Amino acid sequence: MTSGLLDSPHTRAQHVFAGLGVSLAAAPQGLVVRCPADGSVITTLAQDDADSLSAKIAVAAAAQTRFSQLKRAQREGFIEGLSAAVKAAREGLGTLITLEGGKVAAEGLGEADGSADILVKTMKDAALPEFGGMLRTKERPPVGLVGLITSFNFPLAVANWTLGPAFLAGNGVLWKPSEKTPLTALFYKHVFDRAMGEYKDLLQVLVGGRALGEGLVSAEAVTLISATGSVAMGRGIKAALLQKKRVPCAPILELGGNNGVVMTAHMSDGHRQWAVLALLNSFFGTAGQRCTNTRRLIVHRSHLDAVVALFQKHITQLVTSGAVVNPLGGASNPYGYGPLIDGQAFALFEKAKQTAREQGGMVWGGARLMEQAYPDAYYVEPALAVMPAQTAVAHEETFAPLLYIIPYDGEVVEAIVLLNAPENAGLVSGIYTQSQKEADMFAAGSEAGHVVINPPKGTGTPAFGMGFGGNKASGEGEILNAADPLRAFTMQEPIRRIAQNAAVMML
Ligand code: NAD
Repeated sequence: MTSGLLDSPHTRAQHVFAGLGVSLAAAPQGLVVRCPADGSVITTLAQDDADSLSAKIAVAAAAQTRFSQLKRAQREGFIEGLSAAVKAAREGLGTLITLEGGKVAAEGLGEADGSADILVKTMKDAALPEFGGMLRTKERPPVGLVGLITSFNFPLAVANWTLGPAFLAGNGVLWKPSEKTPLTALFYKHVFDRAMGEYKDLLQVLVGGRALGEGLVSAEAVTLISATGSVAMGRGIKAALLQKKRVPCAPILELGGNNGVVMTAHMSDGHRQWAVLALLNSFFGTAGQRCTNTRRLIVHRSHLDAVVALFQKHITQLVTSGAVVNPLGGASNPYGYGPLIDGQAFALFEKAKQTAREQGGMVWGGARLMEQAYPDAYYVEPALAVMPAQTAVAHEETFAPLLYIIPYDGEVVEAIVLLNAPENAGLVSGIYTQSQKEADMFAAGSEAGHVVINPPKGTGTPAFGMGFGGNKASGEGEILNAADPLRAFTMQEPIRRIAQNAAVMML
C-alpha cells in the first residue's frame, strides 16, 4: 500500500499503521478524530470505559511487578531497544502528529526524534560515574503505576518527559492522550509492543476524554499522576486525588501559563528591534498553541509605538508571504505556524479578541484565513491587543496567537507587579533590558518557574537543562531534571547505594 502527500488524512493514517503491519483502528461510533489542517475525519475510535480501564490497570500491574524485579542494566537493555524502535518509526509518528495535531512536518518529526533521544538521555543522566574504582548505582523503588494524561498540543513530546524516566525506574504507565490526538499514542503502543516483547503490557493506552481521565486519576492502583493540560484540569486532578483512600504520590502537573515578557525603558533602538525578532516565534509559533508562548508584553511606554509597529510589520510579512499554509502538503514556515486545533479553539480566540475590545483594547490582525478552501479548518492571522491597562481578559490564557501589549510608565518594579498579577503567571517570564540592575530586580521579583533574561527565543525555550516546571497555578513538581531524572518516578525511600569493584573480572 502506498500513500502520498496528496492522499486524504484518513488514507495517510491507514498507511502509517499498515507500515507496522497493523490496521488503523475504526469503529462505527465513538471518538471522532479529525485532522485540523482540513477538518476531515481521520477515523472513529471505540472508547475505553470503567471496565476496560480496570482490565488495563490489572495487566499493566502484572507486567510492572515482573519488570521492576529486573536489574537496572537489564531494564536499560529494553530501553535501548525501545529507543531504536522509536527512531525507526519516526516518519510514522511524525506523520500522525501532523495529521491529527496540524503541525508542520519538521515539528512532528522533532517530537518523534525527541521521544527516542530522551530514553537514552535519561539513562545517561541517571548513571553515576565510576568512583574510586567502583561501579556505582543508586536504587530507589519505583512508584508502581503512573497515570499519564497529556494535552493535544504536543501529542508525543510531553508524554516523552514521563515515559522515559518512568520505565527506567521500573514503573508501568497508563497513558490517556488527549481526545483530540489519540492516534500518535496508539501507534506508539504498537512500536512499544514490538520492542518490549514479554514486557509489552507495561504500557497501556486509554482512548477517551475527560471522564476517562478522571477515572484514571481516581483508580486506587495508580500511585502517581503525571498530567499536562489546562489549569482547570490540574485543579480537577488535585481535588480528585484528595478523595483517594490510599495516599498517592504528589502529582506532577504541567499546566497552563500566562507567560509575560517585560521590555524596559533601558533598550537601545537596536536592542528593541532584536527583542521583537526574538519574540516572534515565542508569540505566534505553533499558532500560539505552546504552553511557553508569550501571552503578554509589558512594555515601557517610551517604546510602545515602535514595538507595535515592528510587530505589525512582521505579522504582515508572515501573512502576505503566504507562509501560513496547510501543513498536509509538506509546506512549512520558520514558526511552525499552522491551523488552530479545532472550532472550539477558534471560538475562544474570537471571544478573547471581542472581550479585549470591550475592555478598551485596540485589536489588530487576527482575521480568519483560507476559510473558503477549508471551511472546517481554522487558520488565523496572529492578533495584537494593545490594552490601556492589564484588564481581566489578560489574566486568562487564550491558547491561540494573541498577544496582549500592556504599557507601563514608571520603574521596572511596576512592570514586575503587572507581570506577577495573574495566578497563572507561573510558567515562564522574560525581560529585555540593557540594565543589569533591572535584570537582577526582575530575576528576584518574578514568580514564574523559569526566568529568562534577554532570551534569543523569547519564552520559548526556558529549561536550559535545569529541569522544567511551573509555579503558582501553572504547575506542581518538576520534570526533565537532568541531575536526578528518576527522582519524580521513584519513592524517596528506601535508598540502596550499590558499589561493585570495577577491576574484578566477573563470569
Ligand atoms: P485540557 O486541560 O483540555 O486537556 C488535557 C488532558 O487532560 C486531556 O487528555 C483531557 O482529556 C484531560 N482532562 C481534562 N480534565 C481532566 C480532569 N479533570 N481529570 C483528568 N483528566 C482531565 O488541555 P489541552 O487543551 O489538551 O491542552 C492545552 C493546555 O495544556 C494549555 O493550558 C497549555 O498551556 C497546557 N500545557 C502545559 C504544558 C506545560 O508543560 N506546562 C505543556 C503543554 C500544554
